[in-house]
Amino acid sequence: MRKKFIAGNWKMNTSRADGTALAAAIAAKVGQSTDVEVAVCPPALYLEAVGKAISGSTVGLGAQNCYHEAKGAFTGEISPPMLVDIGCKYVIVGHSERRAILKESNHDVNRKLLAALSARLLPIVCVGETLDERKAGRTTAVVREQMEGSLAGLTAEQMAQVVIAYEPVWAIGTGVVATPEQAEEVHADLRKLLETRYNPQLASSVRIQYGGSVNADNAAILLSQPNIDGALVGGASLKAEGFLAIVAAAKAAS
Ligand code: PEP
Repeated sequence: MRKKFIAGNWKMNTSRADGTALAAAIAAKVGQSTDVEVAVCPPALYLEAVGKAISGSTVGLGAQNCYHEAKGAFTGEISPPMLVDIGCKYVIVGHSERRAILKESNHDVNRKLLAALSARLLPIVCVGETLDERKAGRTTAVVREQMEGSLAGLTAEQMAQVVIAYEPVWAIGTGVVATPEQAEEVHADLRKLLETRYNPQLASSVRIQYGGSVNADNAAILLSQPNIDGALVGGASLKAEGFLAIVAAAKAAS
């Protein structure tokens, strides 16, 4: 039984005050509940403040990125052990904005993933096709290539710690959400790939989140699909009410 996992990716949004208030409102409602796994991923600069705001609740703290080395002369970078030190449990790697804007390759994502796992962070690995790739009928090939490249060298034991987020690029921040059928088709294929790479038992235990314009209105139908185990939420995670409605939908779909 895979526990639904709802994570909010705040991206480069909120102020310190707004972020801590948002986190406190989410933590107040989630409280000690463990029905759904919930995490917030604020900007790195606010991790410590947000960590304080959610302390005492079951809401977990996640970072949006990390570097692939533990320490050293890497000006401006933040290492996985530093994220653990500040209270992080999760880290997002391979978000499409980082792949597209910062030119992160599957190899970069793989190095970050391995470094995160070494520090005992739980990584959320993002994959997803562009609109052109979907129109060209290349969705399966693209996400499979991203999976193979990003997960290179991971043992089954390591894979058991990883969450996958399927985020079609054309659905991110656009208001155009994938249909439940479109999302389910890719999720089922990703699980099949995990079965081939590892084994059926592991494949059936790995959580695969959907991300891309998830909101309070469309969450229930998406989260009721058999292979959709949660959501990585961008825009709708910036308001407590909307985010908590998605958490409630996940609970109802569990
Ligand atoms: C995201 O950036 O991970 C995301 C899914 O954004 P949005 O929900 O705003 O589409």
